[in-house]
Amino acid sequence: MLKIDPATMMIMIAISAILQSVIIIGLALSVNQYKGISVYAIGTVLSSFGFLAIVLDISPLSSFVIPPWIINSTLVYSILCCSFGISFFLDRKIYYPKWLFLATLFPLIQFYFTQNYDYFWRNFFICLVGSLFHGLSFINLIHLKKIGFRIMALSLAIIVFLTILLFLIRTIYLIQTNTQSILQSTIDNVLTFMGIFILDFLRHCFFMLMVSQRMYFDLHQVSKTDFLTQLLNRGAITNLIEKSMSEQAYTFFSIILLDIDYFKKINDTYGHDVGDLVLKQVAQLLTSQMTSKDLLGRWGGEEFLCFWPECSPDLLTQRVENLRHQVETMVIRTPQGVISCTISLGVATTNMGSYSFDEVVKAADLALYRVKKNGRNGFELVNLSPPVKPPSIPQ
Ligand code: GH3
Ligand code: MG
Ligand code: MG
Repeated sequence: MLKIDPATMMIMIAISAILQSVIIIGLALSVNQYKGISVYAIGTVLSSFGFLAIVLDISPLSSFVIPPWIINSTLVYSILCCSFGISFFLDRKIYYPKWLFLATLFPLIQFYFTQNYDYFWRNFFICLVGSLFHGLSFINLIHLKKIGFRIMALSLAIIVFLTILLFLIRTIYLIQTNTQSILQSTIDNVLTFMGIFILDFLRHCFFMLMVSQRMYFDLHQVSKTDFLTQLLNRGAITNLIEKSMSEQAYTFFSIILLDIDYFKKINDTYGHDVGDLVLKQVAQLLTSQMTSKDLLGRWGGEEFLCFWPECSPDLLTQRVENLRHQVETMVIRTPQGVISCTISLGVATTNMGSYSFDEVVKAADLALYRVKKNGRNGFELVNLSPPVKPPSIPQ
């Protein structure tokens, strides 16, 4: 039968903890746009110290003995740091007094039971307080609302939950067995060390995966978003509309091209920063007028594009006129006083599958051009009827 020696396992755990903390320190140094990674890294360093201290204690080569209450406190503090790190990373609020009270009490409890040579209660409190500290990150991980890195956060929550379960199983076994040292090859020791070896490794891996998934998500968002207005940029809205056209997601739709009138004059009169402010306010107003099916993006300089699927002709006229009116009456407060602006809109409606996106945009653009030519602050609607098929020639 395979015999597992707890001392050898402890050496393996210490080596693994050191290697993992080196990698997490590398992560903390290279990714500094998020909170919590360095606190998590401190947690991994503390766990390396803790396991290394155990190895020194049990090594026949070393005469250096660190009292168990210090080692156990270091290990439990490492869990607390990792939990704080995860919670900071998830932007969750922490109620510090509760956790700091437990953190202060723990070494005192450990010191008391070390003095009394009580192995069971010393280990019971490691399991209890360790579970509570892990519980903090578990609760925060499962309550995460941000969808961007939810899968990795839930995977990490499962690992943390399994660690809590491991502590519970250890406590149950400790009640039944009469283990008096971590060097005894009892089921509770072997199971715990195996569990820690695997679960700590997985916890650090999933933490890194969660960080990288968040980085990927944020980068993806940035690549789709217009920096000034926070609307979809031209590439992103084009992709989304073309996708819904290829899927024939709706029967008909309208494209609205919308351009701020005499915007150059606003820039020239009040400055570029006021021009930016106008763009942001117009974008905000337009956003407030969209339905859940609609898409809105910044098409270029002071031009915006809307995609309105299945908006009936009557409603379309109403909504377009409403947009024009809302912008016209909008009060824009700037450091240079209150200003206002108007917009012109070119609208093209068609059924799905008859024209390409470029053709519909072109029709809306021509309509917009005519509105500009006719004095601005207005709109023109174009209904693109399906192209007539040439009659088939009889064979
Ligand atoms: P029209 O009524 O014919 O549309 O006239 P216009 O002045 O609005 O149009 P024109 O194309 O002559 O000028 C658009 C201006 O928009 C020129 C450009 O400097 C300005 N612009 C483009 N992007 C930005 C931006 O991000 N911020 C600011 N402040 N100005 C911008
Ligand atoms: Mg303009
Ligand atoms: Mg323009």
